[in-house]
Amino acid sequence: MKAENDINDRSIVYSPGIEEIVGSTMTTRGAADNVASLPREISAGIFWLSACLVVRDGARLVHNHNSCFLIVGRDSTVLVDNAMPSGWPDIRDQLAAILRGRTLDYLFPTHPEAPHMGNCGPLMDQYPRARLVGDLRNYHLYYPGAEHRFVTMAAGEELDLGGRRLVFVPAVIRDLPNTLWGYDPDARVLFVSDAYPYTHQHEAGQCGMTAEEMPEAVRPEDTDVVIERALIWTRYVDAEVVIEELEAFLGSYPADIIAPAHGGVITNPKALTAVFEAGLRRVRRPRD
Ligand SMILES: [Zn+2]
Ligand SMILES: [Zn+2]
Repeated sequence: MKAENDINDRSIVYSPGIEEIVGSTMTTRGAADNVASLPREISAGIFWLSACLVVRDGARLVHNHNSCFLIVGRDSTVLVDNAMPSGWPDIRDQLAAILRGRTLDYLFPTHPEAPHMGNCGPLMDQYPRARLVGDLRNYHLYYPGAEHRFVTMAAGEELDLGGRRLVFVPAVIRDLPNTLWGYDPDARVLFVSDAYPYTHQHEAGQCGMTAEEMPEAVRPEDTDVVIERALIWTRYVDAEVVIEELEAFLGSYPADIIAPAHGGVITNPKALTAVFEAGLRRVRRPRD
């Protein structure tokens, strides 16, 4: 599958003062010039981190991405999702390697579920100035006493990071009622949380490969594990209605790069949207 956007070939131009913070040797191809390693810069100032889960799929073990994305602006930094508690050492170290002494300013968990918000506690301890952003309607139950660090955001609102922004957008494919997606309108990167998942042939050593760099093309059946476990409602809802809504959304928020929590980064959104939509239709198939 040919990538529409080759993220490795982008020349990276940092805003003044940013380069010394994020211009480390890992930036364009992952540490040690290895595309499979994370963290990896997927667009100027946007970094992909992950603490993969190993999931049994029939007879084999596959990795399930548990990805997070750091957006670095001139004034502020924001981490989109923050992985399972078991992934804390990985996330802590990857984040520190990118930030290189700079602080984390905002944490945006897309929804209150362990793979997306499992490290809010240790992150708020590690970065005492960091604030939680998003639809935080029930977060006081998880972090009582931390309410002064909550910044509630609704779909349509945006966070100014200095020279760039993160827009909070409705989650068309939602897991919980307060799931939000994120969108960088200038870099045209869309952060889709549980949507666009896949596990196909993602094994140790392939964690940092994009969907298009995988040895074989991602197939609709590769989306089953996550769609069936995380998005159970898709069994009961007409896939065509969901697909129509998704297509309309992508018309309003055009993306060159799609960044899912449970699949490799996507640099050919058109092709992977077709795969994901076929996956949504598969879940509706009759069962024994
Ligand atoms: Zn999830
Ligand atoms: Zn992995």
